[in-house]
Amino acid sequence: MKKLLCILVALTMLCGMSALAEGIFTPGTYEAEAQGLFVPVKVTVTVSETEITDIQINAEGETPALGGAAADMMKEAILKAQTPNVDGLTGATVTSAAIVKAATEALVAAGADIAALDANRKDLGSEEAPKEEKTVETDIVIIGAGGAGMAAAIMAHQAGMNFVILEKMPYVGGNTTKATGGMNAAETHYQKEQGIEDSKALFAADTMKGGHAKNDPLLVATLANSSAEAIEWLDSIGADLPKISFSGGASVNRIHAPADGSGVGNYLVDRFSAKLAELGVPVMLNTKATELLADTEGKICGVKAEGPDAFYTFSCKAVILASGGFGANEDMYTQYRPDLKGTVTTNAPGATGDGIVMAQALGADLVDIGEIQLHPTVEQTTSMLITESVRGDGAILVNQAGVRFTNELLTRDAVSAAELAQEGQYAYILFDQNLRDHLKAIEKYVKADLTKQADTIEGLAEQLGIDPATLAKTLADWNEIVKNQRDTEFGRTTGMNADLTTPPYYAIKIAPGIHHTMGGVKIDVAAQVINTEGKPIPGLFAAGEVTGGVHGGNRLGGNAVADIVIFGRIAAQSAIEYVK
Ligand code: ADP
Repeated sequence: MKKLLCILVALTMLCGMSALAEGIFTPGTYEAEAQGLFVPVKVTVTVSETEITDIQINAEGETPALGGAAADMMKEAILKAQTPNVDGLTGATVTSAAIVKAATEALVAAGADIAALDANRKDLGSEEAPKEEKTVETDIVIIGAGGAGMAAAIMAHQAGMNFVILEKMPYVGGNTTKATGGMNAAETHYQKEQGIEDSKALFAADTMKGGHAKNDPLLVATLANSSAEAIEWLDSIGADLPKISFSGGASVNRIHAPADGSGVGNYLVDRFSAKLAELGVPVMLNTKATELLADTEGKICGVKAEGPDAFYTFSCKAVILASGGFGANEDMYTQYRPDLKGTVTTNAPGATGDGIVMAQALGADLVDIGEIQLHPTVEQTTSMLITESVRGDGAILVNQAGVRFTNELLTRDAVSAAELAQEGQYAYILFDQNLRDHLKAIEKYVKADLTKQADTIEGLAEQLGIDPATLAKTLADWNEIVKNQRDTEFGRTTGMNADLTTPPYYAIKIAPGIHHTMGGVKIDVAAQVINTEGKPIPGLFAAGEVTGGVHGGNRLGGNAVADIVIFGRIAAQSAIEYVK
């Protein structure tokens, strides 16, 4: 009887196994979530018995450009591979990892054996079709779809031009998406409506002073003189920046931001891409410009580029370089600044200086190429900026030995240099619950799991591998400093309104990150690229972070966005005139 039962059980198991072998999945729709950089990413997979037939990814709330691009790319990759374990999108690694995790969970719920899916992945072994060679005739080629390139593209379309816009990444936005403050502009209608007295001359003077007078005064005058008009142009395309506040280095309230307080970069990138979509202008994504072509007289006559399916030769009369800076290209920034070797970057991955190298091949001159702005508080695994407000509201920096080493509120470059002088070249930014309660930005860092926290300072020290007694003394000393408003050791005088005495205590490990490359190709006030002999290269125009001269030795907050919009428009106007 027992034997019979055993055989029956064995038979049932065998039947079960063969059913499983035939059907990889239990058909249906399954959902799972995993934490992305800012929000939970939701993945819904639909499976038949043998196939993943559909996958819906909702990464809304992640940085708009990255979340959307990661979702599109990962969906395609998972459907092709028939496993969730596909490569992530460069520049959106946290979002991509969340998509893989959620897709895996949903598929496990659908009865899948993930190891078996990996072993049978369907995206290997198939020969890629060779890329075609394509020749395209157009008037203008815009290289790069960050703020400057998209502004130029909208202008070119409004002027009825024939043009293409190339973007090497799978998404638009570049470093522009990282801009959080706003756009500097003087004598704007918003300033007038809000009773703020400002002048173009004052804007220019502040910018020169901020840049240690290394800036090109003509470019700075152009920036200041065209800024109010640029704000009106932004209004006209639905990208108004009505909220005005103060930003470091400005004599008056001059930085213009979106009404709802959202980050200016993402806001403009969203509005610009929506406008391009409305105008029916396609951005050629995943298409990298590789060479600028000039005729025997040195006039621009084309661009070579590589797209996903083809090698392109664009035959054109003018090129607008809007390919951004080189803050994501370690070889290049260490070529000009060997001292920055090994420094991480807050930059978008496309900021590799291609435009500078391509223009140089045609004889373009470079200015201020070694002027690179570092940001001192960058979380190194995510490259997330820990906003200056955390220190401004009272946080301190300590090294691995558990002691302070600088006035935390010196200029970005000075604090960065102090960090780099510490063992390991990093530090911890330390704050308490009271500070968290008063600064909304902290929630983002906690959600992204960047913070360590403990109910006692000794407990936090243990988590950080710091001697608990030393850290406790540092904190006690700091609270004395706040009480007496006297920092005799480092001379800090600001951000001392509240002590750090409310548990839990928090720390984020940070180090300097490359933030903005202020130098680049030399341009004149018409955004024409100037060669090493001081003459314009006919047909070559440039705008934005690819250029140098506007910011000099130090960029003021609010001037990167001004640069992009103002010189993006000027480059387009000049190219349009040149082509006509
Ligand atoms: P800016 O602020 O000057 O507009 P961004 O960094 O915002 O600069 O935008 C520059 C854009 O140019 C990025 O999206 C980047 O990926 C793109 N880019 C850089 N090099 C190339 C290239 N060789 N071909 C096409 N696009 C490029």
